[in-house]
Formats: sequence, C-alpha cells, structure tokens
Amino acid sequence: MRKSLFIKNRYIFFGIFWGGLFLGSYLFFFHQKPQDLYLLEEKVMREEEGVDRMEEETEKYILLEEKQEMVFTSPLDNPKERINKKPFGIWIDPQNSPIFPERFSGYHTGVDFEIFSGEEDKDIEVKAMCSGEIFFLQTVNGYGGVILQKCFYEEQSIIVLYGHIDKDRVRFSLGDQVKMGTTLGFLGQGGSEETDGERKHLHLGVIKGEKENFLGYVRAETLLDQWIDPCELICSL
Ligand SMILES: [Zn+2]
Repeated sequence: MRKSLFIKNRYIFFGIFWGGLFLGSYLFFFHQKPQDLYLLEEKVMREEEGVDRMEEETEKYILLEEKQEMVFTSPLDNPKERINKKPFGIWIDPQNSPIFPERFSGYHTGVDFEIFSGEEDKDIEVKAMCSGEIFFLQTVNGYGGVILQKCFYEEQSIIVLYGHIDKDRVRFSLGDQVKMGTTLGFLGQGGSEETDGERKHLHLGVIKGEKENFLGYVRAETLLDQWIDPCELICSL
C-alpha cells in the first residue's frame, strides 16, 4: 500500500517537474514578441559598436600621444635658457638688434640658441631634433655650415635647418637616415668661416613642406607662416 502510494506520488512529482520545465522553457524562448527580440538585438549591437568605437578612439589617442612624445628633442640642452637674444618671429634691424654689429634685418624665421659663458671654446654637440634624412650639407652665405634634414610633423613634411655648424666635423653623409637625438656635429667656432663670421650659436629653423628655404629673415610678418616656431616643438620637453 505504502509502496503504491510512493510510486503514484513519484509520477505526480515528475509530471509536475517536466511539465513545469517545458512550460518555462516555452515561455522563456518563444513567448517574447518578435519586436522585443529585434529591439534587444539592436541594443546589444549598439552597445558592441560603442565598445568598438571606444577601443578605436583609445588606440588612436595612445598612438597620438606616443607620436607627440617621441617626435622631437632639443638639439642643445636647456633650450629655453639659451633663447635669450633672437626668438622666432622677432623683428631685427641694425638699430634694435641685441647683436652688435648687426648685418641682418627682417622677421627672424627661426630661433637662435646661444652658448653659455664658458662654452666659447668647448665642443657643443648639436643633436638631431627629429628622425629623418640628411639631404643638404654645405656652406651657405650668412650661416657658414648648414645641415638640412627632412622630418614629419603631424603627418606633414618639414625641413629642419641647423645653421652655424662646423661643416667639416659633421658625422653623417647626404642621404643618411638619422635618428632623433643622435649627435649630428658641433657648433662652428665664433667669428670663423664655420659661422660665416657670426657669434657661436645655433640658428634652428623649421620650414613647412619639402622645399628648402635658406632665408633667416623675411621682410613681411605674414611670410613667417612658411615656418614653424621650433620652440613650440621642443621648449616644453
Ligand atoms: Zn638666427
């Protein structure tokens, strides 16, 4: 008697269990309206898209940050302290110039890095401000030794002009790819042909584009937009 009751109860129990499971599954999987499912799918897709976009943005930002940090270095140490005579864009003429005697006049297209006292007879290394090809190494009127290097800034070509260099001690040849921070050579001796008779200092110019331009001064201020202020690129480093 007890046994048959147990068997009976067991059938009832399994009946309810499987019945419930079946009904539950049915309601769960098939009873959602198609529209709800569509909306749900769309929501998931939009969330996934959002995550993808966020990841893309983050990657771009990291790349940009790396680029900005890695693109430039100062050719000389303590750049800000050395720019104490002719910064970028200043108007110079023989009457107002901090240099005497002055033979130039116009708006200064680069920055002049001066030597500190005690550096007159020392070798002052000039480092590559960026990574790129050396494509010009010659004596130029007004500068003495000049090195031109091709580089990139914000995906645009630029030319870096290093002026008043001791041309004979430059360590690279034309066509060499030089890495940022490597020593290119040394400042020319003041008052010699290495600097075309100028004081010992570095004139650094950054020209936009791929066309060489040796002008150290321009007559109109608007013409300065063919150059970039080098200090913007290296003074905060
Ligand atoms: Zn200069």
